[in-house]
Amino acid sequence: MTTKPQPVDRTLWFETALLPDGWARDVRIGVAQGRIARIETGVARAAGDEGGGVALPGVANVHSHAFQRAMAGLTEARGPADDDFWTWRALMYRFLDRGGPEEIEAIAALAFIEMLEGGFTRVAEFHYLHNDPAGVAYADRAEIASRIVAAAAETGIGLTLLPVFYAHSGFGGQAPAHGQRRFISDLDGFAELVARGKALTGGLTDAVVGVAPHSLRAVTPEQLAAVPALAGGGPIHIHVAEQTREVEHCLAWSGARPVEWLLANAPVDPRWSLIHATHVTEAERREVARREAVVGLCPITEANLGDGIFPAAHLVADGGRFGVGTDSNVQIGLAEELRMLEYSQRLSRRGRALMADAQRSTGRALFDSALRGGGQASGVEGGLSVGRSADIVSLDAGRAAFADRVGDAILDSWIFAAPTGSVASVWRAGRQVVKDGRHLARDAVEARYRQALAAVLG
Ligand code: ZN
Repeated sequence: MTTKPQPVDRTLWFETALLPDGWARDVRIGVAQGRIARIETGVARAAGDEGGGVALPGVANVHSHAFQRAMAGLTEARGPADDDFWTWRALMYRFLDRGGPEEIEAIAALAFIEMLEGGFTRVAEFHYLHNDPAGVAYADRAEIASRIVAAAAETGIGLTLLPVFYAHSGFGGQAPAHGQRRFISDLDGFAELVARGKALTGGLTDAVVGVAPHSLRAVTPEQLAAVPALAGGGPIHIHVAEQTREVEHCLAWSGARPVEWLLANAPVDPRWSLIHATHVTEAERREVARREAVVGLCPITEANLGDGIFPAAHLVADGGRFGVGTDSNVQIGLAEELRMLEYSQRLSRRGRALMADAQRSTGRALFDSALRGGGQASGVEGGLSVGRSADIVSLDAGRAAFADRVGDAILDSWIFAAPTGSVASVWRAGRQVVKDGRHLARDAVEARYRQALAAVLG
């Protein structure tokens, strides 16, 4: 019996591709309605095939606050000696006084373009900016969320929208501060935000909506118990144990460390992503691995903010899972995040190739983990397999950095040795969005970004 091949909308061909069971040569991928419909290996390029070079599966960015892209590079001056976050916070407050829906959409669109150009094909947007500059809910509570959705639609990036519940300024239900007025909602308002998020994303290709209780500082135990039910099967993300000060405050409030408290009081399971989890004990780390939750590591932002170093190599040795995120978006790139992650382990443990294992090189092991953890954390499994979204990133095999490289050495060279901007093309849900290293809408989006920044910061 022969099965009739499924008709495809387009075909892509690559000299080399990373498939779920390893590297393959001369790979032809057929796409139908945004999904991979068939994969052939060892076949010649045919007339009309798109593609070329090295194909990698697109990876999800597990943690972003898109609007913070506008502040990148402006917060590197020193404030009062005892306040590491002084310049960051001062600028953030200025932004919060002036940034309206239009500006936020323009900034998010540029951030999403840079994610696609940097090798990410989906973003889990931890979206907490809900209210107007006076701290009043917009007539449509999800006005700003609708701008995030519009930016995703314009740029083509896959969106996992995580509306954030934020109610307090510190452990034990402390009243919110003036600087937090744009983030605050009550549980009824939040339920409305999540429902609107689901309606707004209905027109996007394969969007996911989850929920994000902001942190143990910003929600009470009662609120933390109520929020996950609103996820309706979607992912649940929370910031936890990012800084030592947070650990001290949590200990003073509850007698437990933040990750310890969360594991004891919330039903943490594979739906959950613990963002940062920087300061964990061995017992906490092992329990996170046992629960099969994802740790959302943001190595560049964590380095930029001086948070500390998460014991990622130990987590992996325990069978734990991680994804990577660009968080503050101070610099955006998958290879750059993975490089920083490995180097942070090397610097703290004075060893080499710490994320590698017996079968896989460092780059391959990092990439595989980020692909799997990113899929779990964002609610959409990645990988170049039939049935999955055709989210494909190609590297330019003609670049000097890839000369004479085969197999895992391609990933090692991309992550550790190639210049920034080595992604050649990107297809998202089967549609090409990046060509010759540039997003097809970059010029228009960048022009709007410049206007938005002049309005907010000028
Ligand atoms: Zn964050």
